[in-house]
Amino acid sequence: MKLIFERSRAGRGLSLLPECDVPKAEFDAAFLRESAPRLPEMSEVELGRHYTELAAETHGVNDGFYPLGSCTMKYNPRIDEELAALPDFADIHPLQPTESVQGCLEVLYRAEELLCEITGMDAMTFQPAAGAHGEYTGLLLIRAYHASRGNTERTKIIVPDSAHGTNPASAVMAGFKVVSVPSNAEGGVDLEALRAAVGPDTAGLMLTNPNTLGLFDPNILEITRIVHGAGGLCYYDGANLNAVMGRARPGDMGFDCVHVNLHKTFATPHGGGGPGSGPVGCKDFLAAFLPAPRVGRSESGYTLTQPPQSIGRVRSFYGNFLVVVRALAYIMTLGREGIPAASAGAVLNANYLMHALAGRYEMAYDGACMHEFVMTLEGLKHKTGASALDVAKRLLDFGIHPPTMYFPLIVHEALMVEPTETESPETLDSAAEIFLQVLDEAEANGESLHSAPHDCVISRPDEVAAARTPILRYAFDG
Ligand SMILES: *Cc1c(COP(=O)(O)O)cnc(C)c1O
Repeated sequence: MKLIFERSRAGRGLSLLPECDVPKAEFDAAFLRESAPRLPEMSEVELGRHYTELAAETHGVNDGFYPLGSCTMKYNPRIDEELAALPDFADIHPLQPTESVQGCLEVLYRAEELLCEITGMDAMTFQPAAGAHGEYTGLLLIRAYHASRGNTERTKIIVPDSAHGTNPASAVMAGFKVVSVPSNAEGGVDLEALRAAVGPDTAGLMLTNPNTLGLFDPNILEITRIVHGAGGLCYYDGANLNAVMGRARPGDMGFDCVHVNLHKTFATPHGGGGPGSGPVGCKDFLAAFLPAPRVGRSESGYTLTQPPQSIGRVRSFYGNFLVVVRALAYIMTLGREGIPAASAGAVLNANYLMHALAGRYEMAYDGACMHEFVMTLEGLKHKTGASALDVAKRLLDFGIHPPTMYFPLIVHEALMVEPTETESPETLDSAAEIFLQVLDEAEANGESLHSAPHDCVISRPDEVAAARTPILRYAFDG
C-alpha cells in the first residue's frame, strides 16, 4: 500500500482553522522555521481510507482469536477507555494545585487501596511506567531497606531460570549480582538448589507465580520461608496477575514487595506500545522508602506526602495517570465478584484449550495449567521439519494471531498459548480445530508451512531488519 506522503497532493484537504482574531505573538527569528513543515495533504475521506487500509493489514483483538493473552492483548472493556478520556482526567496539568485536582488524587488513592487489597500489600506507588521499571523500583526499596539496617553485604538477588528476562536485568541495573536457581522436573523452583543458594549475602528473591510456564508453584510458602530465614526479602513479579487476582495474594504467599502491570491485567492494552504502568506495592516496613510524592488523606482532603526515607523519584510527577484511571474503572466495574470470576475464567479457558490439544500437541509440562500453557514442537520439527514459527505463521491464514513463540527460553520450540477469560467456548472450539488442522498439514507436508502465511497481505517480513534498521521517517526527494 502507499504511504501517506505518497498519497499526499499539495492543496488537498481543508483547513478548519478560523481567521486569527487575537494579536499575533512576536517570536525571536532564531526560533522560527524557514519553511513550512512538510505535512501530508489529503481530503478527509482519503485520510479515512488510508487508515482503514492500514488497519486491514494488521490483526487485532477485534479481528479474531488473539492467544497472546493478557501479556499483550487481552480484551479491554470500552467503558474504561471512555472514562479515561473524560476531560476532567485527560486535560489536567500535573502542576495544578492539589485543591483543584482532588478527584484525580482520589483516583490514585482509591486505586492504591484496591490494588493493595488484591495483592495483599500495605502501600503502593504509581510512579513506575512499566513492569521492568517497577522491578527496578522494588529492588531499590529492598536495597534501601538493607542499607538502613547497615547490611551492605547483601548484594545478591536470586532469580529462577524460568524468570522473565527483565528480572535479572533489573537486578543488575539496581546494583545487585544475580544468582540463578534451576527449575525442578515439575517446572517449579528446585528447593534444594534454593537452600544452597541463600546466605548472608542474599538481598532477596524475585519470583513470578504462576511462573512464565503458566504453572503455580505449590511450594511457594516454603520458598518464601527459606529466603526470609536467610534474612532476604521476597519480590513478586506480578506483571501478570490474570490467573490469581481475587483468589490468591502475593502478600499471603510471603512476599514483601510486588509490582503489577496495569497494562496487562487491568484494562490498558500492552501491544500498541502505548503508556504503561507498573505500580509497586510493599508491606508496611518498606513503605518509608517508597518514591515521593505519595497521595495521603487528611481532614481537608487529599494531599501529597513525602515518605521519610524515600528513594526519591523514579519518574516525573505521578506516573501514567490515565492508565490508573482505566485500572480503577476496571476493578470497580468488575467488583468483588467479577475480579475472581475473571481469573477463574482465564484459568478455565486455558485448561479447556490445553485439553483439546493435549492428545496431539506435546505439552512442555504435565498437569493443570494456570492462565496459559506451553507446548513444545521440538518433536514435530524433528519429524516433519515444521517449526514452532511455521505453525504460528500458518495460524494467521485462519484468522488466529500467533501465540507467543520461543518463550520461555527453557522450553525448546515453544508455543505459549493464553486465551484469556473473555473467549467463548465456541471460539475456543474453533481455535482448537484450526490448531489441529495445521498440525495435520505439518505432518502431511512440513515443507508447505515454511512459506506460511499464504493468504495474508504480508507474508514473512524480515523481522531482524525491521528491528535493527527501522525506517522511521519518510525520505523526501528534495
Ligand atoms: C511483561 C512482563 C514483565 C515486563 O513488563 P514490561 O511492562 O514489559 O516492562 C516482567 N515480568 C513478567 C512475568 C512479564 O510478563
